[in-house]
Amino acid sequence: MELTVLGCSGSYGAPAGGACSGYLVRTAQSTLWLDCGNGTLANLQRHGLVEDLTALVITHWHPDHCADIYGLHVLLKYGLGRSGVPVYAPEGTEARLATLVDGDWGGIFAWSAVGDGDATGVGDCDLRFSRTAHPPPTMAVEVSADGKRLVYTADTGPDWSPEAFGPGADLVLSEASFQGNSGPVGANAIHLAARQAGERAQAAQARRLMLTHLWPGLDPNASVVEGSEAFGREILLAAPHQRTRI
Ligand SMILES: [Zn+2]
Ligand SMILES: [Zn+2]
Repeated sequence: MELTVLGCSGSYGAPAGGACSGYLVRTAQSTLWLDCGNGTLANLQRHGLVEDLTALVITHWHPDHCADIYGLHVLLKYGLGRSGVPVYAPEGTEARLATLVDGDWGGIFAWSAVGDGDATGVGDCDLRFSRTAHPPPTMAVEVSADGKRLVYTADTGPDWSPEAFGPGADLVLSEASFQGNSGPVGANAIHLAARQAGERAQAAQARRLMLTHLWPGLDPNASVVEGSEAFGREILLAAPHQRTRI
């Protein structure tokens, strides 16, 4: 399994091409796109053919995780003449996003609503979903293939942990929007600080941890130091176009 970061800027786009959340997961037989935040469709086209897309997963309907579905819709409909592309997203996402296409996706996508504890097979991948601590219905996703497990936390506050998928994921790709006490990371928070991401990945016995979704303007090196201390060893930091073997 290979993970390519299409964008990793937290909540809004960063300077110099810093797209929002999007990840390409390639396995022997499948190409999955996890979150299509603003800027990620452009970056996707640098790393592969949209024609090869097996399925799209949208973790929640915040624009930084789904805005590029509109560009994808146009490309599939008018550029590629492709329809029925599978999309997995929380209940209500299809209808909510459809307001900008006059309520009709024209059959371009085959929508499947996913909820807490759901599991499904896509190509040679097994997907599992877990509801995180984030206001709109938000699903963390585990991708299993080639004997490896990737857990993507989506957006979450501290009241959820990748332990929900069981211990020992090969890579936990965790949001880490804030640092220390710099952001609203206390009770009822809707995002994590780097330390909290490290603690939760450590408790889930993750083999490796990659931080993502950092708030633009924060010093990423400080997040890495904070997250590493909590995780107990070196961690990875997501960067646009970075490829990682899992
Ligand atoms: Zn976000
Ligand atoms: Zn969000």
